[in-house]
Formats: sequence, structure tokens, C-alpha cells
Amino acid sequence: MNAPPSVDHANMSDAEWQTRCDLAALYRISDLYGWTDTINTHMSARIPGEPKCFLINNYGDLFHEITASSLVKMDIDGKVYSTNDSFNAAGFTIHSGVYKARPDVYCVTHTHTRAGTGISVLKQGLRPISQDALAVLDEVVYHEYGMPTTDEECESLGVSCQKGSSVVLRNHGLLTVGATIPAALRRLYMLERACEVEIIARGLDEEPTPIDPEVVRQYGERARQQRASPEFGVADWKAAVRQIEGRGSDWRQ
Ligand SMILES: [Zn+2]
Repeated sequence: MNAPPSVDHANMSDAEWQTRCDLAALYRISDLYGWTDTINTHMSARIPGEPKCFLINNYGDLFHEITASSLVKMDIDGKVYSTNDSFNAAGFTIHSGVYKARPDVYCVTHTHTRAGTGISVLKQGLRPISQDALAVLDEVVYHEYGMPTTDEECESLGVSCQKGSSVVLRNHGLLTVGATIPAALRRLYMLERACEVEIIARGLDEEPTPIDPEVVRQYGERARQQRASPEFGVADWKAAVRQIEGRGSDWRQ
């Protein structure tokens, strides 16, 4: 079961509570989309107005159990501000590493899905063979596997995230970042889809049909323009929230 609430509403900003609700919704959406790894993997959101602080799941909670109140508040130096202080050490390394290196980032997602982890073990990785891949290829970065929970890995991941916002963590899984929670979700959705199609294509007995390199270039340019908008991912986010609202709204508790 998920941990008892750890929040003090009297001393909490409206921005923190809204971020808690949105991050809890992100966990529920990830559960709906089948991106969970039981209690492992983690997603986080920086709190507006408190740039050193972010929210992350209480380690041990399943994604469908996570609520706004159950999230752990901590900072990029490892200080915990919640009464439930059970966070995943590897999660802290990953998320603090990104927030230190990317002040513009307000959300970090991370998955261990079969398709994403499957692509992560390949030397080549994603190819421009699907529309889904074209939406992410121009900003995909491959981050070499490093020893989890170390300072070196924390710094190294930060460097990788400075090169692109959709990251294949080699031999591990996927990670995306965003200036907003909807933006990070949109990137993850397209990256997961691209990996799924790549895995399917590699299991078939025909070579994939190539896409004209000029079309790949033009698609990438359009994708960059869309990602630059503050509205990037918002319509998809609203649709995803409607999907989970069909299952109840207890994540807002
Ligand atoms: Zn992981």
C-alpha cells in the first residue's frame, strides 16, 4: 500500500500542490500506458518558485497507488522535506543530475519498458523507419551505462541531457525531460512508440522501407518547432488526464 500522506498543507504553496497533482497524474497515466516496472523507475517534477526542490515517488509505491500527498519533496543536494522519506537512491542520482545540469527542465521521466530497454541494448538503436521515430530522432541522445548511485553517473547523465531531451540510457531504459510535465510526457510517448516500432521491425523477415532523408530532415525541423512552443504536449496531456479520470480521481488526494 502507498504511504500515509506526508504533506503540510498550511505551509505549502499553490504551485507545489498543483505540481503534486500533475505529477501524481503522470504516474497514473504511465500506469495506464503500461510503462511501469512495479515499484521501480521514477518520474519527478521541479517545484515552481523553488528551483532546488523536486517531487519524486515514495519508494515502494506502485504507480497506480501514487497520490499528490504521497510524493516525497527533496532537493538536488539530497535533503528530504517530507515525513515519508523513502526515495530510491538511483532515482535521486538520475533526477538530481538532470536538474543540476538543466535549469530549464521542470519534469524528468524514466522507464524500464521492454521496448525501451530492448532498444537500449543495441549498438545502433533507433533508425528513421517510422513516423514515430521521425518525431524524436533529431534530439535523441545515447547515454553510456554508468555505475548507478555514483557522483560520476550523476554528472555524466547531466552532460548527456545537455545534448538532447530524449535519452536512451544504454543497457537500462529511457529518459525524457521537459520544461513542463506535458512536454516530458509527450516526448516519452513518442520515444516509447518509436522503440516499439523499431523492435517490431527488427523481428520481421524484411528490411524496413527507408524514408527519404530530405523528408526525415523536414520532419525533424517541424518537430523542433513544435517542441519549442509552451503548448507542446498540452493537448495530449489533457486527453491523457481524461483517460485516467475514467478510472477515478483519487490521485488528487
Ligand atoms: Zn532505471
